[in-house]
Amino acid sequence: MNKEAIKKQYELIKEYHNKYLTGYGIKLPELVSNGKYVKDALVLIKLSEGYPNTKILSKEELTKFMHEFYPDTRDVQQARHLSMQKGWYIASGTRGDAKIPSGSYKLITLEKPYPAFCRDRREGFKGNFDAIKKAYNYRCATCGSKEGEEHFFRKGVIVQLQEGHMNPAYPLKEGNIIPQCQVCNRPDRNKWVYDKTGRVISVAVSQDGARIVKEFLKNATPILRMEIFEFLKSLIAK
Ligand SMILES: [Zn+2]
Repeated sequence: MNKEAIKKQYELIKEYHNKYLTGYGIKLPELVSNGKYVKDALVLIKLSEGYPNTKILSKEELTKFMHEFYPDTRDVQQARHLSMQKGWYIASGTRGDAKIPSGSYKLITLEKPYPAFCRDRREGFKGNFDAIKKAYNYRCATCGSKEGEEHFFRKGVIVQLQEGHMNPAYPLKEGNIIPQCQVCNRPDRNKWVYDKTGRVISVAVSQDGARIVKEFLKNATPILRMEIFEFLKSLIAK
């Protein structure tokens, strides 16, 4: 990649970043610092080549690219840190994020943060709801819609931020509050089965429902998984 191509690719990332990612607390690395290209920026540039049709790149390929600018580089760790710690949505094969080989990376999108990332949630909250909203740039923690503006996917709906539970098992108080828009601060109808009073009683028979069960199992402890496994076996045996 020549200087021009690097500059052009960086500008593209910058445009998406401004539009979609700043609200999540994701920082755009500078392109140049002290007269040298910034490593994080280089890795983003390489991974976003051909965006939105990005390629799967192995660590070796990233290292090779980095070598052009940093001949001493042995092992490029930037791709890993850019997702988990910095919020860029880069899938890692090692982490099992997507069906890509172990040791490989793929930039999924520049329009959403890495799913497990939320700077503010990780840091926890102090202060009243106004302070919390400010920490989220006055955006819904779930969908990113901005307070007082039209909702991202509900045309004509003006966003009002509400105090949402982070974990519904705990009370709605400091440390367990996220700002959510009026659309997200309601259980999603595609995922759950409700009783007459609007309570969730089961998982919906739908792709969303199946996905949510799989997500739960992925996040469950091994002991809980074993218990569920035994339970399912007993159901099948009947
Ligand atoms: Zn929302």
